[in-house]
Amino acid sequence: MTVSTPATAPALEKAARGERLSAEEIESLYHLPLPEVAAVANGLRLERRDPDVVTFLIDRNINYTNICNVGCNFCAFYRTKRQKDSYTLDYEQISHKIRELEQVGGTRILMQGGVNPELPLEYYTGLLRHIKANHPTIRIDAFSPEEVLFFEKAFGLSLDELLDTLIEAGLDGLPGAGGEILEDDVRAKAAPARIKAYDWFRIIDAAQRKGLYTISTMVIGFGETYAQRAGHLVKLRDQQDKALKDYSGNGFSGFAMWSLQTENTRLHGKAPGATAHEYLQQLAIARIALDNIPNIQASWPAQGFKVAQAALYYGANDLGSTMLEENVVSAAGGHDRHAVTVRELIRIAVDAGFKPAIRNSRFQIIEWPDVDSALHRSAENPEAERAVGAAGS
Ligand code: SF4
Repeated sequence: MTVSTPATAPALEKAARGERLSAEEIESLYHLPLPEVAAVANGLRLERRDPDVVTFLIDRNINYTNICNVGCNFCAFYRTKRQKDSYTLDYEQISHKIRELEQVGGTRILMQGGVNPELPLEYYTGLLRHIKANHPTIRIDAFSPEEVLFFEKAFGLSLDELLDTLIEAGLDGLPGAGGEILEDDVRAKAAPARIKAYDWFRIIDAAQRKGLYTISTMVIGFGETYAQRAGHLVKLRDQQDKALKDYSGNGFSGFAMWSLQTENTRLHGKAPGATAHEYLQQLAIARIALDNIPNIQASWPAQGFKVAQAALYYGANDLGSTMLEENVVSAAGGHDRHAVTVRELIRIAVDAGFKPAIRNSRFQIIEWPDVDSALHRSAENPEAERAVGAAGS
């Protein structure tokens, strides 16, 4: 199927015909007028996903510890053990957060921490078992490749043994955090101790092979070149080809991209970040380049709700999730956007001209919310608003 488009450049015309672009062709898109790129991206989005529907997930982010020994220059979240506001949550504190999620109809936790050298393997396996025993309907997507890399070294297990141990204890998926730009030149400047691109893909590949949920990610604004951004997208696309072919279709469930936030970090004033224009341009190019990843998220924590709404016309078909407690991007962003209500996500989707649908972490629709009821509910009661997600389930 071809897309109706005013495309004038060869690479755009090729993309509009549904053909795959090379890294060089992807790079050329950054030099074209954004409306032309956006028109093709939006056409592809309408082809690849239900054109009338925008999805979102009711979930909660849980950061079980903020103690971390990696020390990324762009991170305002982590603390050293000696800092007064460092913490590690116990199982009951985490259960309390999950009960709050259950009360609003949530179905998944996204649980990540810093890389805390004090915690033994038993903390993690015990935590997974505790959550599965006490919250059997909640999916656990947990531990970034950075954390998994540390577990390998600290606990003396092979990657296969480690993942098998975590899966046996209750792990359902690995978030794709730590992707940023998967080019080591960029990573070395932003965070010298950060997981290298090779290890990120090695761990994601093993997770996909074992049937775990994964998601692909990208962060722009480190001062990376267009060629490096295009290279990042091609690497994700190659991994997706491999996973779809070799792992019975268990590739990345989606793609999430946001812009670097540097407030309260050592990169403040040193990294350019990205404007809304640049964010929307990158999103549109991702939609064009990632021809094998149909679900693309708009980012409200980094971009705000209005740009996230606009992103639905630049290639995004999904509004991400409620999060309930986003701590990492917001710590470096100054936006103070830790959560969004179900009502707000419904309104964002409806105002942009779409039918909202609640999905699971695999992007399968699990509920059609009652839009009329949600939009007329009093904005004075956020808990009631959040409970909209449970209506009808
Ligand atoms: S981004 Fe993650 S790994 Fe890096 S310092 Fe922050 S918590 Fe640690």
